[in-house]
Amino acid sequence: MLDETTIETFKAGLRGELIQPNDEGYDDVRKVWNAMIDKRPALIVRCSGTADVIAAVNFARENDLRLSVRSGGHNIAGTALCDNGLTIDLSGMKGIHVDLETRTVRAQPGCNLGDLDRETQVFGLAVPAGIVTDTGIAGLTLGGGFGWLTRRYGYTCDNLLSADVVTADGSFLTASEKENADLFWGLRGGGGNFGVVTSFEYQAYPVGPQVTAGMVIHPMERAREVVKFFREFSAGASDELCCLLNLRPAPPAPFLPEEVHGKPIVAIAVCHSGSLEDGERAVRPLKEFGDPLADVITPKPFVVHQSMLDAAQPPGRHYYWKSEYLPEFSEAAGGVLMDHAVKITSPHSAILLFQLGGALARFGETDTPAGNRNAAYVLNVAASWEDPAQTDEQVAWARGCWSAMQQFSTGGVNVNFLTGEEGNQRVRAAYGVVNYERLVKLKNKYDPQNMFRLNQNIAPDV
Ligand SMILES: Cc1cc2nc3c(=O)[nH]c(=O)nc-3n(C[C@H](O)[C@H](O)[C@H](O)COP(=O)(O)OP(=O)(O)OC[C@H]3O[C@@H](n4cnc5c(N)ncnc54)[C@H](O)[C@@H]3O)c2cc1C
Repeated sequence: MLDETTIETFKAGLRGELIQPNDEGYDDVRKVWNAMIDKRPALIVRCSGTADVIAAVNFARENDLRLSVRSGGHNIAGTALCDNGLTIDLSGMKGIHVDLETRTVRAQPGCNLGDLDRETQVFGLAVPAGIVTDTGIAGLTLGGGFGWLTRRYGYTCDNLLSADVVTADGSFLTASEKENADLFWGLRGGGGNFGVVTSFEYQAYPVGPQVTAGMVIHPMERAREVVKFFREFSAGASDELCCLLNLRPAPPAPFLPEEVHGKPIVAIAVCHSGSLEDGERAVRPLKEFGDPLADVITPKPFVVHQSMLDAAQPPGRHYYWKSEYLPEFSEAAGGVLMDHAVKITSPHSAILLFQLGGALARFGETDTPAGNRNAAYVLNVAASWEDPAQTDEQVAWARGCWSAMQQFSTGGVNVNFLTGEEGNQRVRAAYGVVNYERLVKLKNKYDPQNMFRLNQNIAPDV
């Protein structure tokens, strides 16, 4: 236990706030996206800049405190928080600077994807990232990061140019291809294992601002034809086009007839980020296929498309995910997904199959820890519910679907989609043998005491 004077001295030296369990607002500050997570840090340092981060890391080390790092607070496993330890909360650090000449972007770790898109799209630029606006850029980048632009420009971490990091000993380092290149390699997929990132520098690209995007929705009775169409359509897509298959109960969306709400549907969502003419041509077969319940594919601002799926995954619900990478989407795999889609009992749960491929192959498997570059799709079996009494049932559904799909996996998994319970074998599966061993060596160098262990941990072996 820390005595009051020690805490007060630490607090007085911060520019940001120090929040403790008896402080007003404590319960709001310790909330994360997934309501399954209910952790109670003893100290939450709401950092206002790098100096606070250095002070917090040093304080945690000197007082042997459990330490967690929070940016967007979106990780399914809830590793942003810790019980009875110190949480470094970066969510208030939201600065972004866009350099129009070099098309590079510097962003602080508290930014979410919506912040990043807003500040880049005003100049017609975008950094390839994820598909839900309130996801944090920090955790996403450090775990790889995929989204609508991945097939064109690679993982988010493939577009990281440098990062500023506070390491376990309180040092402040810049990591890039030129400086601390070993650490830079580790940050491009190795998660929060090597220190606290206080600034990210990205390459951005001209995108939109209008893209051809949206989704078509069919009733589940037509799933067999729709899934077959999706398999062929996505397999033939150019790198400018990215497709997502979504099987779920229909949400109460205004563009869906009321009598369909709650009934099982199959949707194909797309984003074509090339010219509007090419986009129109590319999505035409999808728009002409079958007799959809709704077709909301149209030219629209990229930022609008980026928020299309926000309503489906709001903060504060209970969530449990099971994920796997697939090398292809076979007819048999489609059959398994359809069998499990009709067993969904929560109106919020969904099966998502997101297309990858394309530019991922521009890097080799060991060029970054975020590998799995042979994956053509990432599967996410996403259970979501409101009533905690439903937890066992919903978790069982997700596990059942995932177990049945494992036969189609590459054997790899996205580290950012692992829940807290999956264990070290799954972390190893996320990286593969060669990358995992290299990450361990890096951990030995930068965090031999494993201070940053409340994450998908790569334990040192010194
Ligand atoms: C609704 C939703 C949609 C998603 N969509 C996508 C998607 O389209 N593509 C995709 O790739 N992923 C997606 N994800 C997964 C997402 O990448 C991870 O949840 C990611 O961890 C979120 O980052 P965060 O900053 O919000 O995480 P937090 O929960 O704040 O942190 C998670 C972990 O990341 C590490 N970390 C965070 N910040 C730092 C930092 N500054 N320095 C060092 N370590 C740090 C820590 O280990 C921490 O425990 C989605 C998640 C959700 C919930």
